[in-house]
Amino acid sequence: MIDTIKLMDFGTPTTNLGAMTCPLASSFTDWARYGVAPAAKHYLGSEVVKIETMGTFNCRAVNGSRSGKLSEHAFANAVDVSAFVLRDGRRVSVLNGWRGSSEERAFLRRLHQSACKRFGTVLGPDYNAAHANHFHFDMARSMANGTPYCR
Ligand SMILES: [Zn+2]
Repeated sequence: MIDTIKLMDFGTPTTNLGAMTCPLASSFTDWARYGVAPAAKHYLGSEVVKIETMGTFNCRAVNGSRSGKLSEHAFANAVDVSAFVLRDGRRVSVLNGWRGSSEERAFLRRLHQSACKRFGTVLGPDYNAAHANHFHFDMARSMANGTPYCR
């Protein structure tokens, strides 16, 4: 975990954030401020008071296998976002909301789109079954050639 930081407070309490590379942390805070916050107001008429993640750092290969290409999580260069808690008490998870009410669907799709402008790689429930319950964001693709990979 070289050249990484731990976000302490950027306005929205976020669970399970460990070490992150600086570009990832910067994109994540921008996404929370300029993507998540306005979308919650617009589609759900509320405010996100907590973002739930499944973590950042995890020394493993892609798809959790023991061998093969190392995941961006092994470099603290990825974050998995699983749910959003609103001020009015609602909790919108990627797992239930992606095919949930029309407001939840619109909210989560807006967040996915917004992420595609800020992260190198964005994977969600439409990518594969392993991502049914979270959005995976990492910075790999943007550093390589500037073209985001967005599924
Ligand atoms: Zn991930």
